[in-house]
Amino acid sequence: MQCSKIGETFPYSYSFRALQIMITSIGTKEIEQILLDISSNIHSQISYLTDIDSQIGDGDHGYNIDRGFAQVRKDLSKFEGYDIGSLLALAGSSLISSMGGASGPLFGTAFRKAGNAARGKSLVNLSDIASMFEAAENGVIDIGGSKVGDKTMLDSLHPAALAAKSAADNGETDLVGAFQSIVLAAESGLEKTKSLVATKGRAQYVGERGQGFYDAGAATVCIILRSVLETLRHLDDE
Ligand code: ADP
Ligand code: MG
Repeated sequence: MQCSKIGETFPYSYSFRALQIMITSIGTKEIEQILLDISSNIHSQISYLTDIDSQIGDGDHGYNIDRGFAQVRKDLSKFEGYDIGSLLALAGSSLISSMGGASGPLFGTAFRKAGNAARGKSLVNLSDIASMFEAAENGVIDIGGSKVGDKTMLDSLHPAALAAKSAADNGETDLVGAFQSIVLAAESGLEKTKSLVATKGRAQYVGERGQGFYDAGAATVCIILRSVLETLRHLDDE
């Protein structure tokens, strides 16, 4: 779009995006919306996730994570107040209490730890979000004992956390732009799980036969982060 004042022509053009109001922070209500949208997106991907877990695990991941986020949706209706820390802690506890399998405590801890990092805040910006990612990743490492390359959810969570940190460190403030790079990083991490041999979780029992297949938990991390991006874009359009 070409912008000029009356009687004056600027020798450059503004992008439409530059004229839009960017989202640089989100509050408790937006995070509630993000959680509800994750719940819907996970629900629509049950069979995709189940197929992935069937190839190298026991095929229950789609149902596990869907049960968890259905519980999050239920429990959210009881949430009161403005503390983002308490909201995410509630979501984490809902996942842990309702999910079977290894992934319940892992995803639940990720949300609880992200909540710890946001305790007392009713608004978070990119720098807060980067700290929340770091806390979530450390929580997963602490309880799962995994490292990058073990073919687990960490293989997409770690690059996502790094992308959040580098965007924040570079002084980026636009949450939509930052989440675009976070999602790309997570998806490239998921892609790499295909060639890896699992050394954690059930998939380790199939050993090298698991090569050529994605990790289900890493795929779920991507669905969650893509969902966050979609919600942010939607808020951006409003
Ligand atoms: P289960 O393996 O008990 O059937 P799920 O199928 O719900 O549980 O979840 C499997 C996912 O959990 C894997 O795809 C992997 O991403 C993740 N996972 C399993 N063990 C670990 C671990 N020790 N550290 C990190 N992630 C793990
Ligand atoms: Mg499973």
